[in-house]
Amino acid sequence: ALLCCWASMVEAEYLPYKDPNQPINTRIKDLLGRMTLEEKIGQMVQIDRTVASREVMNKYYLGSVLSGGGSVPAKQASPETWVDMVNDFQKGSLSTRLGIPMIYGIDAVHGNNNVYKATIFPHNIGLGATRDPVLVKKIGAATALEVRATGIQYAFAPCIAVCRDPRWGRCYESYSEDPKIVRSMTEIIPGLQGDIPPNGRLGAPYVGGQNKVAACAKHFVGDGGTTDGINENNTLTSRHGLLSIHMPAYYNSIIKGVSTVMISYSSWNGVKMHANRELITGFLKNTLKFRGFVISDWQGIDRITSPPHANYTYSIVTGVNAGIDMIMIPYNYTEFITGLTFLVKNNFVSISRIDDAVKRILRVKFIMGLFEHPLADYSMTKYLGLQEHRDLAREAVRKSLVLLKNGESADKPLLPLPKKTKRILVAGTHADNIGNQCGGWTIEWQGLSGNITKGTTVLTAIRNTIGLNTEVIFEENPDAVFIKSNNFSYAIVVVGEVPYAETYGDSMNLTIPEPGPSIIRNVCGSVRCVVILITGRPVVIQPYLDQIDALVAAWLPGTEGQGVADVLFGDYGFTGKLPRTWFKTVDQLPMNIGDPHYDPLFPFGFGLTTEPLEAYSSY
Ligand code: BGC
Repeated sequence: ALLCCWASMVEAEYLPYKDPNQPINTRIKDLLGRMTLEEKIGQMVQIDRTVASREVMNKYYLGSVLSGGGSVPAKQASPETWVDMVNDFQKGSLSTRLGIPMIYGIDAVHGNNNVYKATIFPHNIGLGATRDPVLVKKIGAATALEVRATGIQYAFAPCIAVCRDPRWGRCYESYSEDPKIVRSMTEIIPGLQGDIPPNGRLGAPYVGGQNKVAACAKHFVGDGGTTDGINENNTLTSRHGLLSIHMPAYYNSIIKGVSTVMISYSSWNGVKMHANRELITGFLKNTLKFRGFVISDWQGIDRITSPPHANYTYSIVTGVNAGIDMIMIPYNYTEFITGLTFLVKNNFVSISRIDDAVKRILRVKFIMGLFEHPLADYSMTKYLGLQEHRDLAREAVRKSLVLLKNGESADKPLLPLPKKTKRILVAGTHADNIGNQCGGWTIEWQGLSGNITKGTTVLTAIRNTIGLNTEVIFEENPDAVFIKSNNFSYAIVVVGEVPYAETYGDSMNLTIPEPGPSIIRNVCGSVRCVVILITGRPVVIQPYLDQIDALVAAWLPGTEGQGVADVLFGDYGFTGKLPRTWFKTVDQLPMNIGDPHYDPLFPFGFGLTTEPLEAYSSY
């Protein structure tokens, strides 16, 4: 009793780990030295927000929370609601014995896309078409602000997969089939995290302050190379193939200070990546000198066994010993904690492995200033959906458009379209549909058709752009009689894929779903037409190509559809280049630039250009 009262009478003990003036390594060492095994294992755990609470964070010393698959507090939750939620979990962490802050992660893969009214940028495939890493860096910076607007400090982005087969449901998350383009787009990392200072150390994570977030290069490694593009499958390739195609973007990410790397569900030559000690510890940590933390994918260690979770103890020992530092569990955290505690106490997992994991997690938290600024306030909510960000997204849309066909010949182009005509027809399932424009990973994991968030549809954009005396008639699926009887000067047809994410997007036929093809046939058979494809990848288009007068690949442009009209009507020129090979028929797949029997419909890098029409320019 005496001891207790004496202690409370003296001044608060000086704790080097809480002192921002101490070097980070000193802080890490000091804190690690104070931690119990229970506290260390807790740091390694990331749970889903739906099972998190202030009490749970406190009781189990948990290191991290996520909004998995875009699990949102409520679909139209305000940024303030997000801030309150994140802070509430944080208060649980701060009230633990050592007060180590948790880090909150979210899939901000094209803007802070889980959040209502956020700016939604084009998905990565569209950014690949821009060939503009400087623009992509700005998008990273804008995304960081919109993520911070919701109190969140960590984005599971960028996806640096090199998609080698468009049948893969995550093709749109990949910038390109070309490793060089993917590598160049790692410029998004300094956008998200800030530029590493000149004295920065190779492999050291860097996050420059409260306007920035920790980034995550994913999914290590070979996720885009699976057989037939089947999600989470086996990537069959030589070591040379792995290193030359799928690895280069990781070198660049590390050089640019990426804080975290997420492991892929896929296997390399039959070995699950979550179990691959040689690549995670041997290559990523030892050879490449990556010093941030490695995170598993969602239930990624469970999937080391088939069926998943068949032998969880085995999964834990294999995953942790392979070198995974933070485990995205995300629900059965007590089972994980009990399992890992048992494994450490019985020497199946060494304490030095645990210490390595915890040091890496703490390093990122210290570097980003989380100990000094653990709680968010509402001062950054103003960044969500900021007009400047929407302007940036609109610019990205303009630059992402790839013009694949323009009239019968170069001297008879259809585009740019005149702004002043009598009557134009806008048709198709994707002309007036924000959800379709955004694709998967928007508000919901799978995305959703319809009016899911704030934005400008292509139809609205066209109406905003054309002359006052031009009549725009919108019919989602008009019949031929209607088209012919209305004397349209031309038609703009907007069709494409409906939103999907991950395995749900795997497609072995890559056809545009009906009524898309019927709308193309109907409209293009009756009037001069421009077809705008809203798709996450090249799709079957050859059968309709003769009927189509002009063809534009718009990918998944996001909320700023105005960018499409800007280029269509000549305020800006078309400049985008195909980030992928466009196949003729699916039986050609996989087919990538440099392959021996390369016989595409449109080759990698293809893209016609137009000049902006000065006369129409509003500037
Ligand atoms: C995906 C990851 C994502 C994670 C968290 C997984 O299913 O593969 O890309 O970051 O979920 O939502």
